Amino acid sequence: MSTPVNVTVNEDCISCQACVNEAPTLFEISAETTKSRYIGPAELSPEELELAEKAATICPVNAINVEKK
Ligand code: SF4
Repeated sequence: MSTPVNVTVNEDCISCQACVNEAPTLFEISAETTKSRYIGPAELSPEELELAEKAATICPVNAINVEKK
């Protein structure tokens, strides 16, 4: 079962790439802003949700918010 989510990365991102390394299918460093951005789907599988939440946990500046809708 998939979970609808709203995943955001705020301006506090320091481009450390930890989230990209942890979850490369969900986050990328934007060439435009040089900050991370969410590139995953609007609904996540349990495995993807776990990855997104882990990325949010390891972000050193708490820039990632994973909201379940
Ligand atoms: S882990 Fe946090 S600070 Fe590092 S790139 Fe991702 S959002 Fe930015």
